[in-house]
Order: sequence, then structure tokens, then C-alpha cells
Amino acid sequence: MLKTPAYAAPSKTAPLGPLAIDRREPGPHDVLIDIRFCGVCHSDIHQVRDEWGGSIYPMVPGHEIVGTVARVGDGVTRWKAGDVVGVGCFVDSCRTCAACEGGEEQYCEKGMTPTYNGRERDGKTPTFGGYSTRITVNEDYVVRIPDGIPLEGAAPLLCAGITTYSPLRHFGVKAGDRVAIVGLGGLGHMGVKIAKAMGAHVTVLSHSPGKRDDALKLGADEFLATDDSAVFARNKNRFDFILDTVSATHDYNAYLRMLRLNGTMVLVGIPDPSPVSAGPLVSRRRRLAGSSIGGIRETQEMLDFCAEHGLQADVEVIAMDRINEAYERMLRSDVRYRFVIDTATIQGS
Ligand code: NAP
Ligand code: ZN
Ligand code: ZN
Repeated sequence: MLKTPAYAAPSKTAPLGPLAIDRREPGPHDVLIDIRFCGVCHSDIHQVRDEWGGSIYPMVPGHEIVGTVARVGDGVTRWKAGDVVGVGCFVDSCRTCAACEGGEEQYCEKGMTPTYNGRERDGKTPTFGGYSTRITVNEDYVVRIPDGIPLEGAAPLLCAGITTYSPLRHFGVKAGDRVAIVGLGGLGHMGVKIAKAMGAHVTVLSHSPGKRDDALKLGADEFLATDDSAVFARNKNRFDFILDTVSATHDYNAYLRMLRLNGTMVLVGIPDPSPVSAGPLVSRRRRLAGSSIGGIRETQEMLDFCAEHGLQADVEVIAMDRINEAYERMLRSDVRYRFVIDTATIQGS
């Protein structure tokens, strides 16, 4: 076992603090990665606070991992020491179900193995995430960070990037489509950049009026502040596609009415439940869907797309011991636009 400095939540109420964890020695098909940066996703907060239920403690969060390969197992041919790589939200899956065979491991019928707050395929060994200095991962669940994307700006692509890219692609968003991104946080700001790079006309719907200038700088064509409820009536039947990244409970029906005939709204934010009425769906043959991250193949495609279009996340790099404060700021929607941990600041590293 490899003793590894990390940062963990001891319970759903205690602040995160240092913890030494064990990483496995790389097996024949494993890659040992020295983690350089790890993004901070709102899902880390949901899980640390057990808002989705079933959380496993101690929990080492973090699923936006970038670093360099330290060494590889004997059977590994695709990766070598020094390669710059990433690990996203899962580190394994069954590999044989229809979803896995179709390259959509995030929808594995037997359940993907989450990068943290889960168990390895043995059903016992807990998984620990990227708030740590190294990780051992099977070679098939690693992606390549293209040259030209700075590592701190690349880390958030492993979750925020793929979670917004995948539904935009799957639902066929194309040049000229009217796209609205709801919530300008980690996911939302990547949604703006990616939708814009796909040629869409992009509107940000935000409950933080102070983010207007940022939204336009990020590439949005328009900014609508949703703290003014008249916005909903004024913008009825407008959008082809709405991507909802909001982390807190809100009224989906109000947003659905902003879709035009045959429009689609996709939820990627995962707050507590909120009722959906039939009326807004029925009256304009609108669709409501959800989407979970993306598979390994699509994550690589997204990284290459970002490199080609010069996209990266806007980040605020923090020291590990600022994490509890970063969570508080995210809960106040005060993130511009992703916190990224510099793992060199983890005690004992
Ligand atoms: P984040 O950086 O904290 O951003 C969330 C944004 O939601 C905020 O910046 C804010 O934007 C908006 N918001 C927050 N509270 C609100 C409220 N009360 N009313 C209206 N808007 C509010 O979070 P994130 O990391 O982007 O994650 C967003 C959500 O996606 C989380 O629920 C997370 O768990 C989920 N997620 C899902 C997937 C997936 O695969 N589906 C993957 C990753 C994350 P404004 O200030 O602009 O309003
Ligand atoms: Zn995430
Ligand atoms: Zn599977």
C-alpha cells in the first residue's frame, strides 16, 4: 500500500481536515498518478453533507483530477511515466453491459464505480477522490489532457466540462440554436463556453445580477437576471434548449415555459425534489430530460474539442486548507467560476 496524504470529511457535519489514506500499488493494468490539481464540484458538497443519502465516511472528495503518470503496471501500453492525464467521476464499471459496451460507462447497468464515496468492484474497498496527492486507477478509466490547456484550467473539464458537453451533443444543439444556461457556476460557465463554441446563441439565466458582465465576457450573447420575476413572462416560448445547472431547489415549470414548441430542457443540477406540472410540457410538446456526466470516449472527445477551441475553465486556485471556506462561498453562489485545489499544499505532501 502507498501511504498518501489527503483531505477528508469525517462526517456530514464536521469540517474537512487532513487524513492519510492507502492507495493500492499499481496492478498489471493500473496507472499511478501524481495528482497536480483537483477541481471542487458542488457534488462534493452534496455528498460530504449526505444530501443524496448513503454517504460513506471518512470521505475524500474530488472527481476533477489532473496530474502526471508516475508509473504503470506491466500490462499497460497506452500510458507511460510523465504523461499528463485526467480522471473524472468514475474509476471503473462492469465493462460488459450495453451501456459500458456503448462507451457510456456512467450509465453502467450494474453501477459505475464512483471516484469517491463508492466501493471498488469488490463491493468492499472504499474509493477516495482527488483531494489527495496520488491515485491508482485502471488504465481504461484515464484520459489524456491535450497540450495547450493549462492543468488548473483543465481539471474542471473532467466533470463540469463533460457534464455540459454531453447533453449539448446528445440533444443535437447546433449553430444558431437559442440555448439558455441556468446558473452561472462551475457547470454553467463551461456550458456557456461550450455552447458558444458549438455556434449557439447563448443566454445566461442567473439569480445573481452581479454576474452580468462576467457572463458576457465568458461568451454569452445575453444575460437575464431571474430575481426579476417578469423575466419569465417576457421570455416565454423562446429557447430551443435549456441546460439547468442549478444546485438548489427552484421551480422547473417557470423555466419550461421559456422553451419553444418541441424545445428540450435538460437537468444536470441535482437539488432536492421539486414538482413538475404536465401543463407546460403538454402545451408546447416540450421535453424534460436529465443527463449524467459522460463516458470515457466522450470525455476525451470533449477535452480535444476544448483544446481545439481554446477553452478552459476560469479558476480560482486554492490551498487545501481553504476548502471549507470554498464550500461556504459556493453555497452563496460566490465562485468565479471553479475552485481548484493545488495538491502541493496538502499537508504531508
Ligand atoms: P456551483 O458552481 O455551486 O453553481 C451552481 C449555481 O447554481 C450557482 O452559481 C448559482 O448560479 C445557481 N444557484 C445556486 N443557488 C440558487 C438558487 N437558490 N436559485 C437559483 N439559482 C441558484 O455548482 P456546480 O458545481 O456547477 O454544480 C451544479 C449542480 O450540478 C449541483 O447540483 C451538482 O451536484 C450537479 N452536478 C451534476 C452532474 C451530473 O452529472 N448531472 C455533474 C456535476 C455536478 P447563479 O448565481 O448564476 O444563479
Ligand atoms: Zn462533479
Ligand atoms: Zn456496465
